[in-house]
Amino acid sequence: MTQTTASKGITVLGSTGSIGVSTLDVMARHSDKFHAVALTANTQVDKLFEQCLLCQPQYAVMVDEQCAEQLAVRLQKAGSETQVLSGKEGLVQVAELESVDYVMAAIVGAAGLLPSLAAAKAGKRVMLANKEALVMSGQLFMDAVKHNGAELLPIDSEHNAIFQSMPAVGKQGVKRILLTGSGGPFRTRNIDTLHQVTPEEAVAHPNWSMGQKISVDSATMMNKGLEVIEACWLFDTPSANIQVVIHPQSTIHSMVSYIDGSVIAQLGNPDMRTPIAYALGWPERIEAGVKELDFFDVARLDFEAPDFVRFPCLKFAYDAHEVGGYASIALNAANEVAVASFLNKHINFTEIPQLIGYVLEQTQGGTPVILDEILIQDAASRKQAGLWIKNNKKQTTFI
Ligand code: NAD
Ligand code: MG
Repeated sequence: MTQTTASKGITVLGSTGSIGVSTLDVMARHSDKFHAVALTANTQVDKLFEQCLLCQPQYAVMVDEQCAEQLAVRLQKAGSETQVLSGKEGLVQVAELESVDYVMAAIVGAAGLLPSLAAAKAGKRVMLANKEALVMSGQLFMDAVKHNGAELLPIDSEHNAIFQSMPAVGKQGVKRILLTGSGGPFRTRNIDTLHQVTPEEAVAHPNWSMGQKISVDSATMMNKGLEVIEACWLFDTPSANIQVVIHPQSTIHSMVSYIDGSVIAQLGNPDMRTPIAYALGWPERIEAGVKELDFFDVARLDFEAPDFVRFPCLKFAYDAHEVGGYASIALNAANEVAVASFLNKHINFTEIPQLIGYVLEQTQGGTPVILDEILIQDAASRKQAGLWIKNNKKQTTFI
């Protein structure tokens, strides 16, 4: 495909996921401004094949080797010129390419850390949805952005809203960040029945349509916890300056409170194409395909304080960030293992925080300074989480 020099080359890491699909949707609305250089997926051959035919990227990466082979055969048969790469190395390679201007970091979980970091080190515009990468690597990631002239634009709707509500330069006059969250599907459910929650109930978010892992995180409120840590790093702020505000309608996506009594908020319908379009277009605004907010339709906005007893994961996250980088890595790793085990029905919903609490108790204080130390802690915490499940569990039944 011929591209104008003004068109930005984009790698979409995790293009087959919820954020990936929304990103391609916004890009397609502006085919004069953006073109896909590389698309990546873990194992979804059919979906990546369709996306390759549609977007004609130079590269497609499938982490799974066999899936990569299947994709390559199918693309060749279809006459496509897309080159297929495989493995984690393939992800890093397409995050660093010279021909890439922007990288959408939309792989879920720790698997996104290396390519997201590679994009930052290569000085790209990093559009960060993969909050787990930042929770794990904190200072290291922020330093990589700073020292390599990368641009970091938050995709998480709350952080994108905060970014929009902050002063254009610096943080003069900012008092605190008000991080909103819907409270998830179990905000008002009888607390004594939470152990009976099924994976199907947990992934049914009241307002947002998202991937499975983040949907479960929203149900435990670990998502908000990870977002508190994410906000600390993105906006260089202590966690004490970040107040979680439960706002069930998800109309306000977050706010910034100023010393003069002003509160600046960003509002909109819950559609991730808004923050994606913002990051793609920044500093300009571009059309996103999102329906305009109808205030008469919204009618009312409610606010509540978060319930740390019902949602212990939120408290774990605040505490972990205070303890240090190792604890944040352990928090994330234990949560990833717990969520996968819950979705496979190996543990029940209330065992998610039990498992995470156990792993955090085993974790040292302090903060890693190099990538290897991060990866070692991640592996160790996953092992501890696995052992907890093995020692505590048989098959869980949902009554
Ligand atoms: P998803 O599960 O829908 O998609 C995940 C993508 O990552 C897929 O393309 C998948 O192929 C790829 N992937 C999964 N495991 C992988 C692995 N081991 N190696 C390489 N690639 C792998 O997830 P999502 O909902 O799009 O979320 C992606 C990220 O964005 C998460 O970090 C999430 O917290 C964040 N986020 C999502 C939303 C949302 O609305 N979905 C909102 C805010 C932030
Ligand atoms: Mg969010």
